[in-house]
Amino acid sequence: MKIVLNHFKGNKDLVLEEELHPDDLELDIGVMHFPRPLMLHAQAWKSDDELTVQAHVEGERSFTCSLCLEEFNNLFEKDITLHYDIKGLDSVTIDSDVRDEVLLEHPIRILCRPDCRGLCLSCGTNLNLESCDCQGPE
Ligand SMILES: [Zn+2]
Ligand SMILES: [Zn+2]
Repeated sequence: MKIVLNHFKGNKDLVLEEELHPDDLELDIGVMHFPRPLMLHAQAWKSDDELTVQAHVEGERSFTCSLCLEEFNNLFEKDITLHYDIKGLDSVTIDSDVRDEVLLEHPIRILCRPDCRGLCLSCGTNLNLESCDCQGPE
């Protein structure tokens, strides 16, 4: 999202909306994918030499569970406040800062659900879906 500084009229703020395309932002980082564009809403204020942007980003993420290896999606949203020094600038592009904030929202443990039982280490059965005999009594 590019914010053009001479679009500000007087003291009024500027309200902008844009779809962020995951490919353009290089958002895919292996364990986390974005199957659809993210929605970015932003409200911006300007003083003589500073631009403040309050942004809200939301969208769908998809992960591979680290225990059972199933794909699952989850929705996320985040409010971001950004400040820019705009001395000598005509416009400000906030995409890379939004990208950083989206990637920061990365879960530490990627599990499809808190009690995921994972795969059997011997036979590979998904223990969320069925049980196997591997850990039965000898
Ligand atoms: Zn799982
Ligand atoms: Zn097994």
